Amino acid sequence: MFEKILIANRGEIALRVIRACQEMGIKSVAVHSTADADAMHVRMADESVCIGPASSTHSYLNKAAIISACEITGAEAVHPGYGFLSENESFAQALEDHGITFIGPSAEHIRIMGDKITAKVTAKELGIPVVPGSDGGVADYETAIGVAEGIGFPVIIKATAGGGGRGMKVARNATELEVAFRTARSEAKAAFGNDEVYIEKYLQKPRHIEIQVFGDGKGKAVHLGERDCSLQRRHQKVFEEAPGPAITPALRDRIGKICAEACAKINYIGAGTVEFLYEDGEFYFIEMNTRLQVEHPVTEAIFGVDLVREQIRVAAGLGMSFGQEDLEINGHAIEVRINAEKLPNFSPCPGKVRVFHAPGGLGVRMDSALYAGYSIPPYYDSLIGKLIVHGRDRPEALARLRRALGELIVDGVDTTVPLFHALLAEPDVQNGDYNIHWLEKWLDAQFG
Ligand code: ADP
Repeated sequence: MFEKILIANRGEIALRVIRACQEMGIKSVAVHSTADADAMHVRMADESVCIGPASSTHSYLNKAAIISACEITGAEAVHPGYGFLSENESFAQALEDHGITFIGPSAEHIRIMGDKITAKVTAKELGIPVVPGSDGGVADYETAIGVAEGIGFPVIIKATAGGGGRGMKVARNATELEVAFRTARSEAKAAFGNDEVYIEKYLQKPRHIEIQVFGDGKGKAVHLGERDCSLQRRHQKVFEEAPGPAITPALRDRIGKICAEACAKINYIGAGTVEFLYEDGEFYFIEMNTRLQVEHPVTEAIFGVDLVREQIRVAAGLGMSFGQEDLEINGHAIEVRINAEKLPNFSPCPGKVRVFHAPGGLGVRMDSALYAGYSIPPYYDSLIGKLIVHGRDRPEALARLRRALGELIVDGVDTTVPLFHALLAEPDVQNGDYNIHWLEKWLDAQFG
């Protein structure tokens, strides 16, 4: 087992990894920007190294500085968390070249699931069902219209290099397609430095269902069921739950098995998430994330496993501590993402937190790097905490969520907590009756 791990991240996810290290008797190294010198992850780790100025390009994305920090501190492995360098093929490769273990899949796995077109081709080859669409990039409008007429309108134009819900345009007819195709390409060029786009059938009322997979890198892989992350704003998840209210055991077994077998076939190592849109009994692959997901705690809650511990184990060459037969769903879990944002526009609201009180009690987990007196810096994303609740069934989880949200105090900055109080009062949310468009429509109706 490793003696020392460096965590190339910040915020709640850095704490999450440090906690796993502490329980495993592994020393932890935090890295931080100058703006994060007082951050909780720096305080909680055994050691810390400043790797650059506030801008993440020069700190949390600075590969050379992170590798130097490993060498200075003698860290043998790096956990990338999510975001930043977690799905960066050249970072995984550079670590390998320096004899440092990347706690995640191989550079090759990151590559084959990296850009969206390559990922779709890989998925198809592995027997995973995909959304009907173009066979790769679409270079001009004539080709685009041919594809759209072949699969039928509406269609969605997506940037090959896209991510974070950006670079997508919907077209309902040929006229819209012409404009959408042009703007999608120029936006993709501006946002990702690559104007390649592709076309998919636009599903009208799907749910976002994702399957958690885990592999040992030696041909053994399991699935840990699904998460329903359909409540999204601007294609960004805000409320996630497991198991999915619309997924039956038979559906779960079918799609879970396909995903686990695909991972076994490629000797996938560590945690991964295969994302699907689900409509009328069918699953359509959209992408695979080759890392730990923000919403992984709901899966941990219902299966009673520690996914970070497991990631560290397999990266160290030990086997997985569970097999498919050990994985049984217990109850229902929900996570809400609490952001420092001001409603109704969700504008970022950094600043000083005067009072912070985390909720507690049975079935409540609060993953957050906040503390009273902490100043949330304006340079990074606005997630300040994840509240996860677990109950014997969905109604109990909902009641617990309402209770825990009532206990949470974050004084000094605006947060998205009022959004969740309002959502919990909605019959559709109470009944689990929503799709990926529900939240946008609801927000429009509330705030216009
Ligand atoms: P990103 O990597 O930018 O998050 P994804 O491909 O994962 O992009 O898609 C993000 C979200 O966009 C999905 O969860 C869904 O809400 C919406 N979306 C993507 N593809 C389609 C599609 N073919 N039809 C309808 N909605 C889609």
